[in-house]
Amino acid sequence: MASKPSFDSVLVRYGEIALKDAWTRNSWERILASNIAFVLREAGVDHQMSRERGRIFVQTSDSRASELVADVFGVVSASPVHTAKPDLDEISELAAELAAARSPPPDSFAIRPRRGGGKISSTELGVVVGSAVQERIGARVDLTNPEMEIFVEARRDKALVFTGTVPGVGGLPLGSQPKMLALISGGIDSPVAAWMMMRRGCPISLLYFDVRPYVDASVQALKSAEALKGWTSGRRVNFITVPIGPGLEKIADLGTRATCLLCRRLMYRIAGLVMEEEGAYGIVTGYSLGQVASQTPMNIMAEQSGIDFPIYHPLIAMDKSEIMEFARKIGSYRATENTDSCQAAPKKPMTRAKAEEIRALDEELGLDALARELFAQRERQRV
Ligand code: ATP
Ligand code: MG
Repeated sequence: MASKPSFDSVLVRYGEIALKDAWTRNSWERILASNIAFVLREAGVDHQMSRERGRIFVQTSDSRASELVADVFGVVSASPVHTAKPDLDEISELAAELAAARSPPPDSFAIRPRRGGGKISSTELGVVVGSAVQERIGARVDLTNPEMEIFVEARRDKALVFTGTVPGVGGLPLGSQPKMLALISGGIDSPVAAWMMMRRGCPISLLYFDVRPYVDASVQALKSAEALKGWTSGRRVNFITVPIGPGLEKIADLGTRATCLLCRRLMYRIAGLVMEEEGAYGIVTGYSLGQVASQTPMNIMAEQSGIDFPIYHPLIAMDKSEIMEFARKIGSYRATENTDSCQAAPKKPMTRAKAEEIRALDEELGLDALARELFAQRERQRV
């Protein structure tokens, strides 16, 4: 059997960036390229990089490169490619070699030609390269359900041949959007919510509320932060802790069914102050509609009533199983799967809160002043 020719580059495709005006596209491409370069450098992958007409080429033959690149935010897909001259004979020879090197040998194959601006038409590519492959390995052509696909693109200056594509993580390049402050609880959902906003281009700071003695999830929260750090292409993450146990005690002492709602309002008020200090433009939570009794639209409306900064809930319409799948991908699942729940929660938490009622209790408790007091006790570390 022929030895498999080694690929020389990774072709990186990105989606939405290409739709932007020239200035934005250029700036986002640059951010993407530098995020990719960081990830490769960190993994010790020797490479060079070039940007060409809506794609990035990473010159390397390191077999880890396409998987690494595919997990950089903004990347739609990545393919290890073989570069040839834009010459039918040379392309045919390369395609035939790739087919012959495949193990087990395919019974059927398809050429997927693309013109890419060169002289050779895609029909010509399909026919000529197809018969060369057929001649070499004796497999039949099956355009609908082939065992092997060979993609061939003939440009003016070069031709690309490749046989596989790694699906990318998608989104926008991290750093192309403003910062967000994500509330991280030590549970499964919140790191996924933070990651969703990162995938959409936002760097993050993380805020953990220490609610001892009602529950202690600081270890899990910090581990989630470390998992998220793995996705930042080298950016450090600020991890802020604010102790709110004494505040929650005041709230719980009221003995109403609204404890969680009032606790949440206290969290939001503090989060607003941290957000400003961090230079962030919104708060992010791991809410998922109806997942627990307290995460209802009525409660969300009451909790956010009168709060004038944006609060994002990127998981709001996701199912638990989908959230868990992302948590596994992100690397936060193991650390967060067995986190205890808060002991201050009433037996029958309120599910249909009324905004006026909550705001009245908020004033009675002086949550605004309490928030400022607790904010003053914040601690900040860099992960
Ligand atoms: P998670 O799995 O993220 O803990 P959950 O389904 O357990 O979410 P809640 O405990 O009601 O739901 O929390 C909802 C959201 O509020 C969390 O996703 C998180 O964003 C925020 N939150 C809750 N507790 C804390 C905390 N101690 N510190 C910071 N944020 C918190
Ligand atoms: Mg929780």
